[in-house]
Amino acid sequence: MSDLQDLYQELIIDHGRQPRNFKKLSNATTHKEGLNPLCGDRLTLFLRVENEVIVDASFEGAGCAISMASASLMTESLKHKTIAEGKQLFEAFHHMVTGHAYRENALGKLIVLKGVCDYPMRVKCATLAWHTMIAALENETGNVSTE
Ligand code: ZN
Repeated sequence: MSDLQDLYQELIIDHGRQPRNFKKLSNATTHKEGLNPLCGDRLTLFLRVENEVIVDASFEGAGCAISMASASLMTESLKHKTIAEGKQLFEAFHHMVTGHAYRENALGKLIVLKGVCDYPMRVKCATLAWHTMIAALENETGNVSTE
């Protein structure tokens, strides 16, 4: 189990240092800014949605390793998901990091962030990109804040 934890930690550090899909999406159909004032994490999420399918996802921003790794893993996980599937993924992820029951096989590699549930202060870091994603999909006005 501790080997697995080490592996998870390595993946988080890797994604935190070298986030995937870290760019502006020039052909995005929606984008949203998110802010976590508690930690100082901020990001802009870009999504390209076609016929209810998230065909591309990217983000730009700065923050702690957890927030960047979570955004990186999320953008990878969202591609080719329908909007409904994206929202289901949010639910499962949110349940996982807040210590509630979740369907492990629904989460894929997002499972590496499950240790966050032991650190309540970091939950907002891990969920920032996700709240921003939901807001982008619902095309809400104004920016997202975890506070
Ligand atoms: Zn943070």
